[in-house]
Amino acid sequence: MSDASLDFRDRSRLFDALDGARFDVLIIGGGVTGAGVARDAAMRGFSVALVEARDFASGTSSRSSKMIHGGLRYLPQGDIALVREAASERKIVEAIAPHLARQTPFVMPARNQAAIARLQAGLWAFEKLGGVPKDRRHQVWSPAEVADREPAIDRSDLAGAVVYPEYLTEDARLTLANVRSARAAGAVVVSYARVEEILLEDGRAAGARIVEAPELGDRQARVFAKLVVNAAGPWVDALRVLEAGGAQSRLRLTKGIHLVVDRARLPVNRTVIMNAADRRGVFAVPKGEFTYIGTTDTFYEGADYWPRIEPADVGYLLAACAARFSTTPLTAQDVVSAWAGVRPLVAEEGKAASDISRRDEIWTGPAGVLSIAGGKLTAYRKMAERIVDMAEAALGRKHVKSKTATTPLVGGDVDVAAAEAALRTDGLSDLAAQRLVALYGSEAGSVTQAGGGPAVEARQAVLHEGALMLEDYWVRRSGRAWFDHNGGLDALTPAADEMAALLGWPAAETARQIEACRRIHHDTLASLTASPIATEA
Ligand SMILES: Cc1cc2nc3c(=O)[nH]c(=O)nc-3n(C[C@H](O)[C@H](O)[C@H](O)COP(=O)(O)OP(=O)(O)OC[C@H]3O[C@@H](n4cnc5c(N)ncnc54)[C@H](O)[C@@H]3O)c2cc1C
Repeated sequence: MSDASLDFRDRSRLFDALDGARFDVLIIGGGVTGAGVARDAAMRGFSVALVEARDFASGTSSRSSKMIHGGLRYLPQGDIALVREAASERKIVEAIAPHLARQTPFVMPARNQAAIARLQAGLWAFEKLGGVPKDRRHQVWSPAEVADREPAIDRSDLAGAVVYPEYLTEDARLTLANVRSARAAGAVVVSYARVEEILLEDGRAAGARIVEAPELGDRQARVFAKLVVNAAGPWVDALRVLEAGGAQSRLRLTKGIHLVVDRARLPVNRTVIMNAADRRGVFAVPKGEFTYIGTTDTFYEGADYWPRIEPADVGYLLAACAARFSTTPLTAQDVVSAWAGVRPLVAEEGKAASDISRRDEIWTGPAGVLSIAGGKLTAYRKMAERIVDMAEAALGRKHVKSKTATTPLVGGDVDVAAAEAALRTDGLSDLAAQRLVALYGSEAGSVTQAGGGPAVEARQAVLHEGALMLEDYWVRRSGRAWFDHNGGLDALTPAADEMAALLGWPAAETARQIEACRRIHHDTLASLTASPIATEA
């Protein structure tokens, strides 16, 4: 294996080297799907290029609810294959990157015995289908146990709760671990490189013209490949139009938002599932000193980089919390940060947003481009395996068995409990140790040995994790934009100064980078407090 570090300080050379280069496979999109495909293809011996228009994971793959689901929610839809796949993929993520699949109890309070019986019936079926071992099966808590363990839950009409284990992840870090593992297996990976044209030879896709992001320069490159894979998430249809002008839209986008509050304002000890006004399940997840609440599922037109958070979205989630918890109702003023993402779902006419299947689909376009959409973060690896199997067939190569299920991801060769204990011995608090191991896995020590904090993390982000903008560090490498005191704003200057020293930014550029991050924070919060429903809730 070669080096897994992504140090893009000489990125212009890397970009130039793409021009005229020939690969077996060119992957468009550095979300979890494209990153997973790049890793598998490179590990099976393909020469691979992965190009991403912005930062890795800057699309949907950093906007999820951060759950590695066992697939329980697909059970009512009768999608047994999806349940099985989700359950087995969950185990695989835990094996190859235990820090990115942390088991945590999900608590489903119920108002009567019939509801408990219904939940249990679903869980028995799920546990059987998913091969859930005995020690991980669900339990039922009495009202007294709920009161003792989750005192914020409203006790009126409470018959008890059904509790089962699920897994939480760091979505952007999972994506990044795949990008770096792809790099380690020999893939060429370049961010801030947008595909603007599919190059055709005799009507067949033969590569793409790539344009550098304007913040970084005005280079262009023509990259050639025997097979082009379109893993552009919500932008898959836009790429299909580049392949064939009149391509019909195949995606239906739905938006989901998340709100972050101080944990003291919504003090949950485990993830609590509650019903929103329309009976959809929504959740409150404890994360360090914060609790995040999500999510919505509404049709959305346009694949915006920062999808709009509407007053109605905020009101919907806060009302669900007010109905489930006995704490003083939250208002929009309690929200310290928020994010929204769009799900690239495969269109199904006549279905409500939350009823559209989360299945993935792969289409071969008229010029031979493989386009992939739908799916979940949870099952990204299996989806990638299927695409690489198809790539082998398309290129007439002998089948090589995928090894992605048994090879640790970068940072994944870690014993989480031991790594956290080691950091606590070095003087870190429980929460700080948990945060660092969750983000960095086996590489956490290299951050703490250098003293920790935003400047050290930003340095790690530039030298090893492909960060080129302050936002790359602040939102996706560190999660500070959403889970830090004062909205993460205090981290901006030390991180920017460190990045400026490494990347050679003049003072005006450093100031511009800080301002861009501040704007993300302030614009998001401004959209929430404009909410009449939320402030009344
Ligand atoms: C609100 C919400 C909650 C979710 N929660 C969960 C969850 O808890 N668990 C779960 O398993 N799944 C969840 N999902 C689903 C999951 O996040 C997505 O299925 C997954 O992230 C999709 O990844 P992707 O790589 O296909 O798309 P993306 O992550 O969007 O990646 C596509 C990439 O392509 C790039 N791109 C676009 N156009 C071009 C171009 N022309 N040239 C180069 N690059 C380009 C984009 O910049 C982007 O980075 C959730 C989704 C949402 C929206």
